[in-house]
Amino acid sequence: MLIVTKPGITKEAFENLLAEIESRGYKPHVSEGESRTLIGAIGAPPTPELMEHFRALPGVEQVIRISKPYKLASWEVHPEPSVLEFPTGKTGDGYFMVAAGPCGVESREQILTAARYVRKHGGQMLRGGAFKPRTSPYAFQGLGVEGLKLLAEARGETGLPVVTEVTSPDLVEVVAEYADVLQIGARNAQNFALLKAAGGSGKPVLLKRGMSMTLDEFLMAAEYVLSEGNPNVVLVERGIRTFEKSTRFTLDVSAVPVLKTQTHLPVWIDPSHAAGKRDYVIPLALAGVAAGADGIIVETHPNPEAARSDAAQQLHESEFAELMARIGRLLPALEKEMAVGA
Ligand code: PEP
Ligand code: MN
Repeated sequence: MLIVTKPGITKEAFENLLAEIESRGYKPHVSEGESRTLIGAIGAPPTPELMEHFRALPGVEQVIRISKPYKLASWEVHPEPSVLEFPTGKTGDGYFMVAAGPCGVESREQILTAARYVRKHGGQMLRGGAFKPRTSPYAFQGLGVEGLKLLAEARGETGLPVVTEVTSPDLVEVVAEYADVLQIGARNAQNFALLKAAGGSGKPVLLKRGMSMTLDEFLMAAEYVLSEGNPNVVLVERGIRTFEKSTRFTLDVSAVPVLKTQTHLPVWIDPSHAAGKRDYVIPLALAGVAAGADGIIVETHPNPEAARSDAAQQLHESEFAELMARIGRLLPALEKEMAVGA
């Protein structure tokens, strides 16, 4: 439920209210407005009696049932857009970010080369999988901790924060030790133990939409991370399964405006995994930008033809440079900017 306080509520009444919320088994989530403060009391659906009880407490103006099953992800509890900040840029509320790099970390030379040109062309975050969730157990599984160390080295040289996938709860600790952002992949988007562990890590989480997930399920997955006390979640539309076979997945561009009406969290597009073929990546990325995405995560490899995973969809350096230039031209028309940091 949402508790709206009266404009002049005393400090004492406010503190009593928070204590009462906790004593009833709810977690208070405070959101300061211009004249009023909203307190989201997060927990089980409240009974009418409990709502009446809170309505009668000093300093309370209104008690409203939160209509959505996701609470912390909703605009009702968090009326301002969330903005995540990194040394190289921001995402959300008019700020656009680009994360780019290879599908998987394959060697020192490969990741350092990619990181250098991602930075040179204006990318703000380096991606690269060290633990790869592969459909086949015989396919390249990633370099593991060695890959994490190489990503950290690339960050050290370029200043780019690093996003990399964590595939199981017991790996959260080691991935969080090296990475700036934890990626949860499409195949793990409803791995609730993993969502909770990532939520508890204190690191921002980049959550991909599962390939058969409704948007409500996607928001509930984000709610698992948020409810661990971690407010820094980015939602990524990366394509869903449909009957169409000409692309790897179908990029659900409409997910962007729909999610934006439902949540304050930044929404990104991953055109690479939707496309499956590099020729479609730039148009899909631009479609996502035009639809209102707050960022993209895109695959690029110094030598895509030789990539050990997702070879067909990774951009060459020249194509990545072209994508960056075209995004740069499109953003002003959308009243968005890429804040370039350190
Ligand atoms: C990836 O980003 O390399 C990846 C495996 O993505 P997804 O989980 O969206 O398939
Ligand atoms: Mn990939």
